[in-house]
Amino acid sequence: MGRQGRSVTVVVLLGAPGAGKGTQAPLLSAHLGLPHVATGDLFRAAVRDGSPVGLQARRFMERGQLVPDDITIAMLLDRLGQPDAHDGVILDGFPRNRAQAVALDAALSARGTQVSRALSIEVPLDDLVRRLSGRWVCSVSGHVYNEHSNRPKAPGVCDLDGSPLVQREDDKAETIRVRMDLTLASLAEVAEYYDRTGVLRSVDGVQPIVSVTEALIGDLAPDGGAG
Ligand SMILES: [Zn+2]
Repeated sequence: MGRQGRSVTVVVLLGAPGAGKGTQAPLLSAHLGLPHVATGDLFRAAVRDGSPVGLQARRFMERGQLVPDDITIAMLLDRLGQPDAHDGVILDGFPRNRAQAVALDAALSARGTQVSRALSIEVPLDDLVRRLSGRWVCSVSGHVYNEHSNRPKAPGVCDLDGSPLVQREDDKAETIRVRMDLTLASLAEVAEYYDRTGVLRSVDGVQPIVSVTEALIGDLAPDGGAG
């Protein structure tokens, strides 16, 4: 609310893998002139730069453990303090659950700011599974095909060298569906939290890319998103 004499726009971008977040984030970033802060990039940068929180985070990452929320939030606050984030940021990949959303609110509130908007890109489960599945790989040379968007001329056979195509366990629809169920449950929890705080806006992610971008931008207006 401009307690520091300027308004900071903190946008939380929500969407399942395959919902198009990776496509929309840079478009929104360019439109708003705010940096796109993806948690994964943040971890890598903090570790590379050897900042105190980066070193703390590295201890967990090296052991293959999740970085605790307080360390992640400390990194986010550091990032918010950098010159290019003066007017705000687009957060991607955090918060992932309700506890993280609560902790983020408390940390931002201590700085006199808050989440301005949580934008959720909604895509039905079946569409997500279709978008993410169907990858087939040439067993000899690694040539990549997709049964939805880049089919081989003959099923199961590489166009280029005639080798058999194989499907990794991770690329099978059933595997993706099981993983996605868990992801969607966490996302729903975060969306419900932001719905209660009044900042959630949902956008239909099945539309063409440009329409999704327009809808997201429309929902950033102070009174945007009547639907
Ligand atoms: Zn091949």
